Amino acid sequence: RRGSCGPGEETRGATKRWKGIKWKRWSVTTPIMKPTNQKVPPDVDALIAKYGVALKASPELVDRRACVLCMREGDGNTSGVARLLNLDVDQWIHLNCALWSAEVYETQGGALINVDLAVSHGSSVTCNHCQRRGATVHCNRARCPNTYHCACALECGCRFFKDKTVLCPMHVVGAVGGTPMPPQDHLRSLAVFRKVYVQRQETKQMASIMQQGELTQGERNYILRVGALMFHAVGQLSTHQMAQFHSKSAIFPAGYKSTRIYWSKDNTRRRCKYLNSIGEQDGRPWFVTTYHSMSAKNNDDCLVTMSGHDVNEGWNEILHKLANLRSHQRMLKLFPKYINGESLFGLTSPVVCRILESLPNIELCANYKFRFGRSPVLELPLAVNPTGCARTEPHIKQCRKKPHTLISNLMSEYYESTGIGDASTSLYGKHFVHSKSSQYRRMKQEWRSNVYLARSRIQGLGLFASRDIEPGTMVIEYIGDIIRSEVAEKREKNYEAANRGVYMFRLDSDYIVDATVTGGPARYINHSCNPNCVAEVVNFEKEKKIMIISNRHILSGEELNYDYKFDFEDEGNKIPCLCGAINCRKWMN
Ligand SMILES: [Zn+2]
Ligand SMILES: [Zn+2]
Ligand SMILES: [Zn+2]
Ligand SMILES: [Zn+2]
Repeated sequence: RRGSCGPGEETRGATKRWKGIKWKRWSVTTPIMKPTNQKVPPDVDALIAKYGVALKASPELVDRRACVLCMREGDGNTSGVARLLNLDVDQWIHLNCALWSAEVYETQGGALINVDLAVSHGSSVTCNHCQRRGATVHCNRARCPNTYHCACALECGCRFFKDKTVLCPMHVVGAVGGTPMPPQDHLRSLAVFRKVYVQRQETKQMASIMQQGELTQGERNYILRVGALMFHAVGQLSTHQMAQFHSKSAIFPAGYKSTRIYWSKDNTRRRCKYLNSIGEQDGRPWFVTTYHSMSAKNNDDCLVTMSGHDVNEGWNEILHKLANLRSHQRMLKLFPKYINGESLFGLTSPVVCRILESLPNIELCANYKFRFGRSPVLELPLAVNPTGCARTEPHIKQCRKKPHTLISNLMSEYYESTGIGDASTSLYGKHFVHSKSSQYRRMKQEWRSNVYLARSRIQGLGLFASRDIEPGTMVIEYIGDIIRSEVAEKREKNYEAANRGVYMFRLDSDYIVDATVTGGPARYINHSCNPNCVAEVVNFEKEKKIMIISNRHILSGEELNYDYKFDFEDEGNKIPCLCGAINCRKWMN
């Protein structure tokens, strides 16, 4: 026991003395300061206008984004319906309109699940307050039919509780049948200060924009814009162009068009639009960048064009001029050395990159290093065969058969102590409060929205994540016939004789799951030495199931893989590993 003058006591006393003066404990109930209506002094306003350094939205611009549920336009109050979240291309929903819908739940990472379900249910439900459709907030008292828009529920005096219960005005006061909720469970404000978003399928959104562009022949209603980049056209690559029209880090399709908003050469404090396009000249890519500039002689607006066979040529010239201008005016330096044409063309932007990597026959770009791989939803129609004769086109190498002829072997560490209801020592227990059996039931309902099948970057077909997956999520079950080892050996020989790929998975020393004939898509998951999933045996209602569980955060579009843990084999029977991981063991067995 320490005396009152111990070092610990002293610091504690010191911090307490400053409480409320130097620091405050923050809580959700702390009122938020409203922005004061103090006007900016006129001289500052004039200065901003003179230099054009601060971007101000013009006052006549009105936010026309409307919530799909309550139809009110623009962002709401933080403690009301709150900000608009993006739902789909040009579709928006208020954060609290989504969050308080009966069907919607929030994951630990802040993703709102089932928003689409709430929207489709709500489209036929009338609000008790405003009599319009789109009501999704239910009174939770049993048999009460009252349903509201979130904003209407707030207006007419519904009460919100911390456990996501809502009571309509009638049941807040009356509390007939059942004990009233204790007042400490009331939610005083609907304000949400954590990251919350609607789980969207971005690749699908991109695909719908792309397809729309094709339908209307360049007259697209939506422009794909990422920061200062506007993307106009993908262009195409015919097979004879593949060899020349790419570098290690970018693909250069002929017909590609984008606009880059970048510093102007006329006024160092302003930006202007640079139009980038890729064409063909002498069988090689031809890069063109055009922009408007004031000519030095007569102050006329003229169109300047930079072009060359090298993607950096035109932009290098622009960048060096900009760098000189800036150093003359003693502005922050620009270092052209670290900016390249590929990124200014937008070719390395992840969104554009995904689209380009889905171009037909893109595998023929031999030196290009793929970052995402083909995405089936983005696939575009084949480019016209330029030679008009199929035989002169280079033959696309067929992918080798997946070496599943060996039976995957689970190490004992994975199936020890994974019975459902165990103390949560296993991976997914840490992240979720749900029991494993309820997780399993949910996975059985939802796995189709977790994965899609596509051409693998490792080998043959592969399974990909179709949404962001949190660590410790049951992604999919490895389904098949459960058979004894002896039967498996016989079947394997038969399959090999029939020249079939064999998909088997060892459950334990006696039993094997054969997915060759009856299996689900989980059998297409490739091996990796640095996997993003693990295979675990889980007992569910006294049956053994093989579960593929994520072991880290997986981004939508990533290929799923786990360590096959094949038995070690002698030379001669070795299978090379193509996983491409930094720590790749070079052999799968
Ligand atoms: Zn709304
Ligand atoms: Zn309403
Ligand atoms: Zn009610
Ligand atoms: Zn490997």
